[in-house]
Amino acid sequence: MAESMVGLKRTHRCTEVSSANVGEKVTVMGWVQKRRNLGALIFVDLRDRSGLLQILFDENVIGKEGFDKAYTLRNEFVIAVEGTVNKRSGAVNENLKTGDIEVIAESLRILSESETPPFPIEENIPTKEDIRLKYRCLDLRRPDIQSNIIMRSQVATLTRAFLANEGFLEIETPMLTKSTPEGARDYLVPSRVHPGKFYALPQSPQLFKQMLMCSGYDRYMQIARCFRDEDLRADRQPEFTQIDMELSFVDVDDVIDVNERLLAHLFKEVLNVDVQLPIQRMTWQEAMDRFGSDKPDLRFGMELHDVSEIVKNCGFSVFTSALENGGSVRGINAKGQGSMPRKKIDALVDFAKGYGAKGLAYICINEDGTYKSSFAKFMTDEEMDALVKSLDGEKGDLLLFAADRNKIVWNVLGALRVELADKMGLLDKNDYKFLWVTEFPQFEWSDEEERWVAMHHPFTMPMDEDLDKLESDPGAVRAKAYDIVLNGTEIGGGSVRIHQADIQSRMFKALGLTEETANEKFGFLLDAFKYGVPPHAGLAYGLDRLVMLMAKRDSIRDVIAFPKVKDASCLLTNAPDVVDEKQLKELSIDIAKEETEEKSEEN
Ligand code: ASP
Repeated sequence: MAESMVGLKRTHRCTEVSSANVGEKVTVMGWVQKRRNLGALIFVDLRDRSGLLQILFDENVIGKEGFDKAYTLRNEFVIAVEGTVNKRSGAVNENLKTGDIEVIAESLRILSESETPPFPIEENIPTKEDIRLKYRCLDLRRPDIQSNIIMRSQVATLTRAFLANEGFLEIETPMLTKSTPEGARDYLVPSRVHPGKFYALPQSPQLFKQMLMCSGYDRYMQIARCFRDEDLRADRQPEFTQIDMELSFVDVDDVIDVNERLLAHLFKEVLNVDVQLPIQRMTWQEAMDRFGSDKPDLRFGMELHDVSEIVKNCGFSVFTSALENGGSVRGINAKGQGSMPRKKIDALVDFAKGYGAKGLAYICINEDGTYKSSFAKFMTDEEMDALVKSLDGEKGDLLLFAADRNKIVWNVLGALRVELADKMGLLDKNDYKFLWVTEFPQFEWSDEEERWVAMHHPFTMPMDEDLDKLESDPGAVRAKAYDIVLNGTEIGGGSVRIHQADIQSRMFKALGLTEETANEKFGFLLDAFKYGVPPHAGLAYGLDRLVMLMAKRDSIRDVIAFPKVKDASCLLTNAPDVVDEKQLKELSIDIAKEETEEKSEEN
């Protein structure tokens, strides 16, 4: 039977009690982790968000009634215990913060009972994720998930305080709004009052934060929820959280400076890790050339080498035709992997195909210095030696080559490099390697839309020295855009914005946007720009990813209290769900019937 807590007041969380309290009376409340009976004694591990505390029920102290009640306790019952702190009578538990003490219970109240939970509430228990998410309430009780959620709260609090101290104002921007320019699909909300019209949930606060700069707020921050209806990807959430900011009267270096100090502060305070400042910077071009990625993982080497020059006249048509089509041939050296069995190499080839490669050429350097290779028969000995030399190949190494358009070669080798590093155990989660990637291309060509699209967004400022190429050579224009990368993950990105009307309209033109469409989409911001706009720039972090890396987890779902799964549904609430006819009618919405349904009705 559930009792009330009237007349009781919790004095400590479980691990706030320590040997300094020995002899004192305390009142603790929490969940039963475990009950053990030892003849005339009952031991209960009591759990709250701070950790565990041992409670000892001794019939001589608590009396028969209390002892009998303690006997009925089962896992996950919620109880309140009054008692006295004692040095542990049994062996000290070194693994527990409270391992040298216990509370001798003088009274017990059962505040609520619990059914047997579907999985044990313990750290790192392998439980199927769909069960965990369905019973998220219980999953969130597990100490490892709790420490992630607590860390997330800490990161948010520290960020707010740090930025406030730097003169940032926290300002909220609307959730019910118009489309924003991040380029994903919008989540739409139908309007009841304006039948047939829709709000869009923001993909980011981008337009509003730029407006705020026009309004003179000069440093804005917000921990903002963003919504993007993107294609299903394992580690994406339809709604996610950004640490968003915008600053006026600044250029790239100013944004980088305040953010480096913010990161260093967070890592010191939360993890006691010293981030070496300044953080290394690399242009996008260099990142692609050396690592095949715009978010290189710098915890290990295995850099890409362009071997096009060496193979340009060779007899291997895979290489030469890639070069003839304007592509390149590049390779990486997986050190010490030369004895990899054929089967595993084949698996790497399949992996590469998943990234668009037609194949993968390899050279194993045997211990006697000879080569085992998929393409040696098409090459001269000199060419083979030159390839090996250019990748610093030594006995026992495995060299892998991709030949194709640059974009594919980068993609394939960039991914392969990380895959191999993972297999070779080179990815240490305790090693934090930060990197700024700068000078991103302004545009990328979309085969689908057959036009240039903005790599960041249409308000990103081109680099001054590339402005004259906006019309003549859009593909060569670099942007004042930057990403902050941690261990191969992009944790944030931003740019200096265009604040001159003439550059903005050239930009829209390059993107194939008519003035009319631009006005329809972003008119309110463009109007604001007519009345005095300061030069401004900003950045947004993905808070989920940042905390995931800080908490050394592999999934952002482990640092979000109520995440959705891959198909964007919520296993806890069953959202999205059907709504009743009345609601639809109020919104003037008619659901199109499935074709098959219609057909069967017709028959
Ligand atoms: N709004 C951008 C984004 O979500 C970040 C920025 O440019 O500040 O990627």
